[in-house]
Amino acid sequence: MKYLDSPHIDKLPGRLLKPGDRFSFKCHPGLACFNRCCRNLNLFLYPYDVLRLKQNLGMTSDAFLDRHVDIILREGSFFPDVLLHMADNTEKTCPFLRDDGCTVYPDRPDTCRRFPVEQGLRFEARSKRAELLHLFRPPDFCLGQNEDDVWTSRTWSQDQEAEMYQKMTILWAELKRLFQSDPWGAEGAEGKRAKMTFMATYNTDRFREFVFGSSFLDRYKVKREVLKKLQKDEVQLMRFGFEWVKLFLFGIKSKKIRPRH
Ligand code: SF4
Ligand code: SF4
Repeated sequence: MKYLDSPHIDKLPGRLLKPGDRFSFKCHPGLACFNRCCRNLNLFLYPYDVLRLKQNLGMTSDAFLDRHVDIILREGSFFPDVLLHMADNTEKTCPFLRDDGCTVYPDRPDTCRRFPVEQGLRFEARSKRAELLHLFRPPDFCLGQNEDDVWTSRTWSQDQEAEMYQKMTILWAELKRLFQSDPWGAEGAEGKRAKMTFMATYNTDRFREFVFGSSFLDRYKVKREVLKKLQKDEVQLMRFGFEWVKLFLFGIKSKKIRPRH
């Protein structure tokens, strides 16, 4: 996912797909390049990617984050990037890759799902809402681009069952964008509030404990029907976490949650 300013769009590598623009592509095990794209990657994971992967693997959020991600806070950045940790072998393969393909295929991350289309978000100067952009950008070695199946960005997204990922990625991008300015002040980007923010966005199991097992509900008013959903539904819990961070750090009001004092 890239964040784009309008003047930079024409300079991006790849072919910008406008609505209805078509591209040819088919990936299958008969191609000589099969699995070649699943190695040595800077594969960014968004919160919903982590949720689906930890569910697929039957792991807790803590265990998944400990075992499978690198968390990198870049200089000048106010929120860390989360990347999938590649295997420690010479080819640095994805840890979920086997000879016959992806072992987490139904829950593979958003970026893998859309490949070789890259998704970007453009924010108009005064708008809070994001506009999605798609770039067809297969690497030279990807032979799928020579196949005959024809797609638009919309039909490709449907075929790859990426709609829910898209919704969650947009919500995440709208929140992450707020971190272009420093919300931490003197305590810095590794202080207590930063840790709570990371938990509320990436660590749903811990966040559930925080909501139901701490003084959280003494400090925030949350409707009973919302609480019921949060207990059962991890996606709702994640969306609630995003709203809480907006309120807690940036003072953005939410219909779901209000401070008690
Ligand atoms: S390189 Fe392209 S065609 Fe080959 S396996 Fe990867 S996505 Fe499929
Ligand atoms: S998650 Fe699956 S599709 Fe994505 S890089 Fe790993 S093996 Fe490939």
